Amino acid sequence: MTTFTLRARWVVPVVAPPIEGGCVAVSDGRIVAVGGPDAARGPVEDLGDVALLPGLVNAHCHLEFSSLSQPLGEAGWPLPAWIERVIADRKRADRNATTAVAAGLAESLRAGVTTVGDIATAQPAAYATAGPRPRLVLLHEAIGFSDARRHSAFADVVRRAESAPSDGCATLASGASPHAPYTVHPELVSQLTDWAAQASAPLAMHLAESPEEIELLAAGSGAFRELLEARSMFDPAAIPAGTRPLDYLRRLTAAPRALVIHGNYLDATERNYLAEHADRLSLVHCPRTHAYFDHPPLPLAEWRASGVRIALGTDSRASNPDLDLWREMQTVLAKHPAVRPADAVAMVTATAAEALGVSDQTGSLAPGRWADILAVPCASPSDPLDAVVAARGPSEVWLGGRRVSR
Ligand SMILES: [Zn+2]
Repeated sequence: MTTFTLRARWVVPVVAPPIEGGCVAVSDGRIVAVGGPDAARGPVEDLGDVALLPGLVNAHCHLEFSSLSQPLGEAGWPLPAWIERVIADRKRADRNATTAVAAGLAESLRAGVTTVGDIATAQPAAYATAGPRPRLVLLHEAIGFSDARRHSAFADVVRRAESAPSDGCATLASGASPHAPYTVHPELVSQLTDWAAQASAPLAMHLAESPEEIELLAAGSGAFRELLEARSMFDPAAIPAGTRPLDYLRRLTAAPRALVIHGNYLDATERNYLAEHADRLSLVHCPRTHAYFDHPPLPLAEWRASGVRIALGTDSRASNPDLDLWREMQTVLAKHPAVRPADAVAMVTATAAEALGVSDQTGSLAPGRWADILAVPCASPSDPLDAVVAARGPSEVWLGGRRVSR
């Protein structure tokens, strides 16, 4: 059994107040004690003027696009036009899922991300890269709008979710992702929520992302209808007139954990529904993707205060220049002065782990969690959070108690 202790000027457990001159004791890859000098176990390494905090948890990513050098389309495009580009990119002959996933995992780790909630389209084997890599919550993507397609989509997703590699620590959970209301038949959403309830699996769904989606649900018209019709996928009976995102939120509460991705156009009733079901439902905000599509500002601080659980994600390199979750945190702080540094750190650590249903494994510095730890330069004599959020990123990263090179 390998036991040691990291001592630092500050320890930021996230789920407890910062500890000055704190210690994090690690044994066999897991945290066994956090506190003052009394928490030390085994040999002690004093790291000096740094703050230790949990590795970041990216609540929403699509690693399959990690080979892109720049986002698809152009800033400010309507979502349906961008989706056309995504469909075209997925047909590129030189596309290599394994290479893209490996690049995205390596890039994530450099930014201090030690767990990625990924919308998975590749087979689970594509994630088996050599060397240190972040832990995974795989949310296998389902696309099936037509009656014919939805049955095979369900079977395929369940097969992938249930065949994830059992490599112990690296894959924390496997679930499913009914992509969005304009690509998934409502019955397929219900099938997947029923499956998730029975398998205790997490779900993620893009919802209320664009005005065009709201129009399709309400009136069965608009750019998404045209996109579906052009591919002979539109089924006029699938979505009854007057459907709202709330109808999907109600379905998603059947799952033990469901991530509502974006939610840019949820109304007050839907916001309240998220707050009332925060034990199951979480909102994932992707700040730079939100800016790329020029959506109206989301009142994040107000929503958090009303009880909505909000985590941050990078989304993919198809709508974001990189996978640096640290920059997403800084973007939120720059755009939302009412969000405090401690809240922003929680949104990329403990809250994101809760949203994915893996807070007993990661997302905080607490006994029993994996020793996924970041060191950030911090000589602050008072509150370390300001220094943490102002940093360019971690100076060192530990994954399961092992120091990994940056
Ligand atoms: Zn997404």
